[in-house]
Amino acid sequence: MKIQTKITLLFFIIATTGLVVINACIFYFVSEFNFEDFFERLEARVNLAAEINIFSDKNSTAYQEVRSRYLEKLANEKDYIITLNQSADQADVLKFKKPLPLPNNFYGAIISKGKARYAKKNKFYAGGMFNKGGSKYIIIVAAEDPYGFKELEELKKVLVIIFIVSIILTYISGKVFSYYTIEPVRSIIKSVQNISVTNLHSRLEEVKGKDEISELVYTFNNMLTRLETAFETQNNFVSNASHELRTPLTIITSETELLLSDQTLSEKTRAAAQAVLCEADKLNQILSNLLGLAQSGFNGKKQNWELVRIDELVMNVADAVKKIDPECSINVDFSKLPEDESRLFTEGNVNLLQLAISNIILNGCKYSNKNPVDVKVSIEGERILVSVTDKGIGIPQDEQQHIFEPFFRASNTSPFEGHGIGLPLTLNIIRLHKGSIGIRSEEQKGTEIQVLLPINSN
Ligand code: ADP
Repeated sequence: MKIQTKITLLFFIIATTGLVVINACIFYFVSEFNFEDFFERLEARVNLAAEINIFSDKNSTAYQEVRSRYLEKLANEKDYIITLNQSADQADVLKFKKPLPLPNNFYGAIISKGKARYAKKNKFYAGGMFNKGGSKYIIIVAAEDPYGFKELEELKKVLVIIFIVSIILTYISGKVFSYYTIEPVRSIIKSVQNISVTNLHSRLEEVKGKDEISELVYTFNNMLTRLETAFETQNNFVSNASHELRTPLTIITSETELLLSDQTLSEKTRAAAQAVLCEADKLNQILSNLLGLAQSGFNGKKQNWELVRIDELVMNVADAVKKIDPECSINVDFSKLPEDESRLFTEGNVNLLQLAISNIILNGCKYSNKNPVDVKVSIEGERILVSVTDKGIGIPQDEQQHIFEPFFRASNTSPFEGHGIGLPLTLNIIRLHKGSIGIRSEEQKGTEIQVLLPINSN
């Protein structure tokens, strides 16, 4: 889950929980207040009923007048008077006749505490215990509270509406909040995605302030500086060493060729000179690879970037491969070339691309014991596809993911010479050209390596 979604969710959950708690508290306290208020009114009526029915003179109408004049008649209000004998206690709860089917503990509480309250749905009961002249009386006043309930229903509706509106607003504000919180990180990711070996000199735009984001940018830029220095140092070394080695190698090659042109050479010396020449050629190929590896890691701007026509490049590579390995037989298949020739161009460096494709074809020849290698050029979507297929030893399934690692050689390659730098170099070059490499291989059956390069869009 993305951090932005996480923040939104967290924001939403916290706010929703808060809202639920607040709404529940409001509802609880308002309903408590309502009940309390209504019970107090009932209790006042209980006392008044006691005054009228128990304590006051039969002929006195004063309390009755107070009640009818000043006390509003509650909905379905009714008084109940129960006369108990003097010794009645809580144990007698079940003995006397009850005018209302209320729970025994309500009656019990009246007897033991002197008063009690009870509510069932919209019906409220308040009871009191009174003594007069050796008799005990229980007075219960019952009434309904339609207004209180209506108020609570209204309150419930309002709270639900407020809750729904608030969670919608919370969700929207959570989204906006998380979007703006993550925005700097998003722009960092975008900038970092644009940094590759070709533009290691690029830096992230500094962020003002002293927060974590500016610290991250600073740290990342520092790391890029260190990487760039290390990268250039390594590349310069490989590149200089390759250049330095190339001159004596050229001399060895030309001197050996001169030696071989001497017709008076004995067979043994000729064979030895030819072996030297062959090894010098191989060394030359290795040096080209190393130089290419170093170059492909350099800043892309330093290289000669131009439009390259891939079918022509493949033809040139096929010719070059035949010179390096005369026994190699290559079948070039151009039957799937597009009608529109402009779709065969990619932007890149000819020498590097030649080196990449020739490495793949040379491998095909080498690992198939000089069986013919098929090279096909076609178009796939917006990319040019060069596929090289051989019927050779294949690559063991579990080793296929390592073949692009420098100096890795599969376990079935011991009879073949190699150094494990050709494919890593090829991958570097293809990535430098914003392309990709795919591989399909089965042991003892063969290997297909696919190179996809972007069609030049200009
Ligand atoms: P190497 O000099 O060993 O050929 P590469 O970097 O060119 O080095 O290739 C790395 C490894 O990938 C090889 O050692 C081999 O195991 C495997 N490989 C590459 N191409 C093929 C192929 N066409 N058939 C079988 N194995 C291959």
